[in-house]
Amino acid sequence: MNEVTITSHAYQSLIEICLRALPEEACGILTGTGTIRRAQPPNVTVTGIQAIRNRSQQPHNRFAFDPKEWIQAYYSMQKNRQSLVGYFHSHPSTMPIPSTADWNGLHAAAHGINYWIVSLQQADKPLIQPYWAENGRFTPLMLTKISI
Ligand SMILES: [Zn+2]
Repeated sequence: MNEVTITSHAYQSLIEICLRALPEEACGILTGTGTIRRAQPPNVTVTGIQAIRNRSQQPHNRFAFDPKEWIQAYYSMQKNRQSLVGYFHSHPSTMPIPSTADWNGLHAAAHGINYWIVSLQQADKPLIQPYWAENGRFTPLMLTKISI
């Protein structure tokens, strides 16, 4: 199984963002270092998390990036010399398994991207499940936390 790495600081920040958004889904981008190549999950380290406001009409079980905040997040990422390595969203009360809405939105990830789901089904034990999304498929990745 392919592996993806996150710093303990980014890990903490991701969990906090998702808890703060409850009972709605949180969403945003994963930034970091590594090369994105086609056709294979890249070897990346997620070092930063940027929350983007969820503008979905059904924010309890869907997410949609606020377009303005999405652009701001993108520029702030570039300013900090970070790369976009993926997207995340949370599942407030279900397992970290892609929902029908997630499958329907998958066409946006045709070129391959990290697609992480944070499950808060057990709020005291948040669960982060990274997937590699490409060609209409979600492939689970193994998550490794590192402290720098
Ligand atoms: Zn979902």
